[in-house]
Amino acid sequence: MKRKSIRPEFVELMPDELKEGVLYISVPFATATHKCPCGCGEIVVTPIRPTDWTLAWDGETVSLDPSIGNWSLPCRSHYWIIKNRVIWARKWNFAEIEATRENDRRAKGRYFGRIRRQRTIG
Ligand SMILES: [Zn+2]
Repeated sequence: MKRKSIRPEFVELMPDELKEGVLYISVPFATATHKCPCGCGEIVVTPIRPTDWTLAWDGETVSLDPSIGNWSLPCRSHYWIIKNRVIWARKWNFAEIEATRENDRRAKGRYFGRIRRQRTIG
């Protein structure tokens, strides 16, 4: 059954057993992890960094931006996490997935290229 909500839990290390409906957030490792809210039981890892996801925490609820598209999982679920709510989005077709992957690659290329340049200068 598809979940409609998720709650944040701040941890240092990810626990071995992940509970359904919990978004585990590790600030030291800049990563959030949760079980896919479609109920398939797969584990979804979202790195928090400029080229991946932005995490917003208002003291009670969390949001992740952009949406989470589990294209490599069998369920291929696609949803947003906004203020502890799971907002289900439609599944993307192959062309949309490929376009997003290409954008991701470009953004990562720019980001990591910049870091390398800064290191060279510094
Ligand atoms: Zn799933």
